[in-house]
Amino acid sequence: MLRPQQPVGWPHARGFLGLGTAALAGGLLATAAGPSQAASGNYEAMLVNCIDPRFTTLSWQYMGLLHGIARDKLADNYSQFVFAGGPVGAIHPKFAAWHNTFWENLDITVSLHHIPRVVALTHRDCGAAKLAFGDAKVATKEEETTPMQKP
Ligand SMILES: [Zn+2]
Repeated sequence: MLRPQQPVGWPHARGFLGLGTAALAGGLLATAAGPSQAASGNYEAMLVNCIDPRFTTLSWQYMGLLHGIARDKLADNYSQFVFAGGPVGAIHPKFAAWHNTFWENLDITVSLHHIPRVVALTHRDCGAAKLAFGDAKVATKEEETTPMQKP
């Protein structure tokens, strides 16, 4: 099984095998779609969240806390749109070049997956929020919790 936390030591033979394993794992994932859903259908939501690697598990856990979605119904039942800042990247003028990509992706997600909701998830100490709003606006918990205005 591929273990992403282990570095691939290219050009060592062991690293080469690691790349082969990664390619094989990718191929298996592509053919191992969930047993209950097709590429289009009715899904629960689209999650918009940040690229910050500290929150991958927590964001999945958060999705399990949503009202109206049982945890056992959550697995392989929502899509994700992940980019720096998550919802901050989707709307803040600092990241205007990304906005069309987000809205076009949302349009496709609604068309294909018939999602009833979008979950926008942010987090504390977000590097993208610092870039968008400035360090002072995210310096303390109180500042981060205050609704942020466009600059
Ligand atoms: Zn972030």
